Amino acid sequence: MVEPTPPPLAELTTLRLGGPPKRLVEVDDEAGLVAEVAARDRAGEPVLVLGGGSNVVVADGGFDGTAVLVRSRGVQVADHGGGGLTVTVAPGEDWDAFVVRAIDEGWRGVECLSGIPGLCGAVPMQNVGAYGQEVADSIASVHTYDRKHQRQVTYAAGDCGFGYRTSRFKREPDRHLILGVTFQFARGDLSAPLAYAELARRLDAPIGTRLPSAEVRAAVLDLRRGKGMLLDPADHDTWSAGSFFTNPILDATAAGRLPTDAPRWPAGDDRVKTSAAWLIERSGFGKGYGTGPVRLSTKHTLALTNRGAGTTADLLALAREIRDGVAARFGIVLENEPVLVGAEL
Ligand SMILES: Cc1cc2nc3c(=O)[nH]c(=O)nc-3n(C[C@H](O)[C@H](O)[C@H](O)COP(=O)(O)OP(=O)(O)OC[C@H]3O[C@@H](n4cnc5c(N)ncnc54)[C@H](O)[C@@H]3O)c2cc1C
Repeated sequence: MVEPTPPPLAELTTLRLGGPPKRLVEVDDEAGLVAEVAARDRAGEPVLVLGGGSNVVVADGGFDGTAVLVRSRGVQVADHGGGGLTVTVAPGEDWDAFVVRAIDEGWRGVECLSGIPGLCGAVPMQNVGAYGQEVADSIASVHTYDRKHQRQVTYAAGDCGFGYRTSRFKREPDRHLILGVTFQFARGDLSAPLAYAELARRLDAPIGTRLPSAEVRAAVLDLRRGKGMLLDPADHDTWSAGSFFTNPILDATAAGRLPTDAPRWPAGDDRVKTSAAWLIERSGFGKGYGTGPVRLSTKHTLALTNRGAGTTADLLALAREIRDGVAARFGIVLENEPVLVGAEL
């Protein structure tokens, strides 16, 4: 029997770009996920593990292998007494729905990560972060299938190699299939202390204040909406993969060459993090930059957006133009945040 041609991956990505995979399978349980990925690995066929498709850029030609849609569900709560508890979530659970549940149940620590698209299995990949929180702050362990050694492995948080928008899972592409994420939460209706100046200003509270988590969530959603960082099918500014470039982390010498008015935050070991958005704007690429079907968001310089009729080739051309423009102006080569599938910058 001839299998029907799968739909283009554009239908499964927030950029709404990308051609079809050779095969597409949807798997809704852990054993099935391991079996499917292991079988493809044994056959030497490429595998694309796909959650919500909000951090991938898929080539127009599609993916020459099997796309495995992770759809396993389930949340398990273990109360350890004394106010602490762990919660293990299956990779196919929606991330923002999980945040809502955490806030409703009084599980503290992920309220600032409200409104980030995608599924729970992907959050450890790039250690998602926003508004002063990162998932690494709340993760206790990550349960995986190690495709290299064909066995299941649980990594304690300290062994996950978490860093700014990275982890051991992202550093070793095609090795770790994430089967579950265990969070360790303190209980309470108040948020973790506010750590992000823009959010604190919006809430009219000093840094370090704890406020009702639901209030913090509302403020975060508000801020995100204003930047086109909340998915909205009617708003092309949200047809993106979020921030396209990460904030560069510079050694002391490179940081010394930055203009004095460039933003800078300490990043450990004498290193300095600066703002990719600032560099992009100062290199002549303002909000809404571009005339074609892929442009910078009109609300946020860091998002490359599909205005409806774009292609991945258009997106990559704009990304190159910006990367090369920033390199020419500041000598800093920006790195892409989303994972490129069959595509190169
Ligand atoms: C509008 C918008 C706003 C965003 N804002 C933020 C933000 O504030 N902060 C932030 O950090 N990110 C942000 N992102 C990026 C993105 O939402 C996150 O990285 C998210 O965690 C990706 O989840 P996903 O399920 O969509 O992953 P996908 O895009 O499906 O996959 C991303 C990568 O993870 C791999 N992967 C997915 N699931 C698994 C699994 N179970 N096992 C192994 N590998 C897996 C994929 O193979 C791929 O390499 C934003 C994106 C958009 C579109």
